Amino acid sequence: MVADKSLNTLQKFQYRQRFEAKSGGNGSSKKRHGASADDLVITLPVGTEVWEVISDPGVEDEFLADLSQHGDTVVAAKGGQGGQGNTKYVTAQNQEPLLAEGGQTGDGRELRLELKLLADVGIIGMPNAGKSSLLAALTGARPKVAAYSFTTLEPSLGVLSRRLDSIVLVEIPGLIKGAAEGIGLGHDFLRHVERTRLLVHLVDGTEDDVEDRMRLINAELLAFDEKLAETPQIAVINKSDRPEVSETFEGMQDDLARNVSTGEAVCVSAATYDGLEELSGILFKTLDTIRADQDAREAIKDDDSLVRVLRPEARSSRPLVVAEGSTFRVLHDRAIRVASASDLNMYEVQLQLHRLMERIGVVQALEDLGVKTGDTVFIGEAELEWS
Ligand code: GDP
Ligand code: MG
Repeated sequence: MVADKSLNTLQKFQYRQRFEAKSGGNGSSKKRHGASADDLVITLPVGTEVWEVISDPGVEDEFLADLSQHGDTVVAAKGGQGGQGNTKYVTAQNQEPLLAEGGQTGDGRELRLELKLLADVGIIGMPNAGKSSLLAALTGARPKVAAYSFTTLEPSLGVLSRRLDSIVLVEIPGLIKGAAEGIGLGHDFLRHVERTRLLVHLVDGTEDDVEDRMRLINAELLAFDEKLAETPQIAVINKSDRPEVSETFEGMQDDLARNVSTGEAVCVSAATYDGLEELSGILFKTLDTIRADQDAREAIKDDDSLVRVLRPEARSSRPLVVAEGSTFRVLHDRAIRVASASDLNMYEVQLQLHRLMERIGVVQALEDLGVKTGDTVFIGEAELEWS
């Protein structure tokens, strides 16, 4: 599984949940190795966590990998070894071996994918500026909207979609006295702000001194997180449904635009949706520019050798043989593959298989379990009478 920055959602897994790599070929008795099949590569959005589902009750799923950067790769399930041709079984005593191997069965895993929603756009502003209302109006998210401060202490996220593109927005709450000291802002919250590339600086247009209040918020921002303070901003005046706002905006627009690095200032109403089309157009356009810039910078320092391959630990080993009532079942992978690819009707083949099982410890394991002449031994699909 490979992280790919062009993906934003796990939507494709709604339509398809089962993925299987093609089988390699079996080995054959004509000195041929089995052909290998291509790896099955599944692309995932950056920020996906991969967990193995453990269905035993009371056992937690097992964490496999966090694909946090473009190109991060995790081998979620290993393919089987290809089958070996019969030359593998040539020995001094046996110049014409009849055994060949079937390809090994690959791993199968049930995985749970969890996408950490990392926001592209943060909405900042004084309490009551209308941040929650704007997030709701743009994205259909349902954050708490209230007339008093301190409402929003948990981050609210929403997704704004346009054709095939989408933007994740987060309301950055609590930028008020004390916020910089971390009141109400937990670790969880910072995770969402991590990737924010653009800030909507929202101001309640019904209040005075718009520019002063923007400066105050920017000072808080700087105290809170320097990187966040450097993030480009768009100035957005809210509550244009109120006449005093719509009437004064034009006079302020140029000053506001000069205050923000993107040079964009717009007037909207989160209540009536006035101006939201224009705002979302600016968001998509500005983000496109920022993403292209970042891609160009990453391409320069991109080095394939830096792609991280995350390998989960192999599962613990299984017994070679188990007893099933009065019969026995061989679980050794190679013995099963050989049994499946060889013609066990031939006595000579049976003899060679027996020798192989001696070498790999299967015969000992069967004897330890008390196998006797005449007992039935299953090896994969094959059923043998022990002798
Ligand atoms: P937040 O603290 O920045 O998240 O602000 P909220 O979204 O909770 O809104 C604060 C108050 O402003 C609420 O009473 C909202 O109903 C009101 N409000 C938000 N947007 C608008 C708007 O566009 N016009 C008007 N008239 N009121 C709004
Ligand atoms: Mg709020």
